[in-house]
Amino acid sequence: MIRPFVFPGMTTRVVFGHGTLAQVPDEVARLGHSGALVLSTPQQEPQAQALADALGDRAAGVFAGATMHTPVEVTETAVAAYAAAGADCVVSLGGGSTTGLGKAIALRTGTDQVVVPTTYAGSEMTDILGETAGGEKTTRRDPAIRPEVVVYDVDLTLTLPLGLTVTSALNAIAHAMEGFYAPDRNPVTEALSRDAMVAFRDALPALALNPQDREARAKALYAAWGCSLTLGQVSMALHHKLAHVLGGSFGLPHAETHAVLLPHTTAYNEPAVGDLLRPIADTFGHGSAGRGLWHFAKAAGAPLRLADLGLTEADLDRATEIATRNPYANPRPITRDGMRHLLQQAFDGQCPA
Ligand code: NAD
Repeated sequence: MIRPFVFPGMTTRVVFGHGTLAQVPDEVARLGHSGALVLSTPQQEPQAQALADALGDRAAGVFAGATMHTPVEVTETAVAAYAAAGADCVVSLGGGSTTGLGKAIALRTGTDQVVVPTTYAGSEMTDILGETAGGEKTTRRDPAIRPEVVVYDVDLTLTLPLGLTVTSALNAIAHAMEGFYAPDRNPVTEALSRDAMVAFRDALPALALNPQDREARAKALYAAWGCSLTLGQVSMALHHKLAHVLGGSFGLPHAETHAVLLPHTTAYNEPAVGDLLRPIADTFGHGSAGRGLWHFAKAAGAPLRLADLGLTEADLDRATEIATRNPYANPRPITRDGMRHLLQQAFDGQCPA
């Protein structure tokens, strides 16, 4: 039976391949722009500068101050730099932090964005922006946030350190996982997410052996695209809520936190969703989606314990309290006992029962 669905359409143009960075100037021109402000983190500034050089007359400058969690102060400095440079679009080269800065500028100025993702975090295809002000992270969705163009260049991911490769991939898988049971899922997100599971399953072991494996890198980046598209089209639930709580209130690192939580949030919801998580169980084995993901993460060398990310056992009660404070939609009811148990398992790094 075909389930009734709404497909929201796709407004982001995607260019995927090896060496596609060279196409960024044409993409900027295609949008009708002549002054791109190139954004990056301080670590990726040399690449951003090289891209600005390649843009030539179409570059308005480089702003290399992007940082984790998109602090509003950084955005304000970047907006001032955008205006001072006379820029008419942004090109964001980097991971989710840099994409976040581009989105924050777009929200304030209406500028067009060309995003060149270099991790698998999956921010580039979404209309979601998380920002921090006064130590609090808030997330919003707005059509103005969604980038106009995404240029995926597999070659740029060859330098992604193995640790971030693994945790970033699990971050992406978390989007697909929640997409499988999202009430607003559609056949495109389902098909791409299924494809993404298989591509990540095959790519990660190959990358552990050789992080420079171009074909495995292509598979992983293709998978990241599918997961990002899913995140950009459907609503998220428990997993993303918990990751937000642990990142926002306890300062835990983004990709690692997603990686540790994923098997446990999956296992929590699995009994409540019928066979909707079957594509994950079928892909990763071990008889259930939660256990399959835990074994996959372990084999890939991902962190397994919240204890190793800086959380203390004393934090678990407060995390439970924050995570259960405001009700939100989730396939399985969120209970205090359920959350406390889930967090303890993730704290200890046990395989979900
Ligand atoms: P990141 O962007 O913070 O990058 C981590 C570090 O890796 C940085 O120093 C970066 O310069 C470096 N790096 C990135 N790519 C590299 C490469 N190819 N080679 C070498 N170094 C590289 O990390 P992230 O995990 O990509 O992004 C996390 C942020 O993204 C969080 O703030 C999160 O909230 C946000 N995010 C947002 C969405 C959304 O839809 N709004 C989705 C996912 C993630």
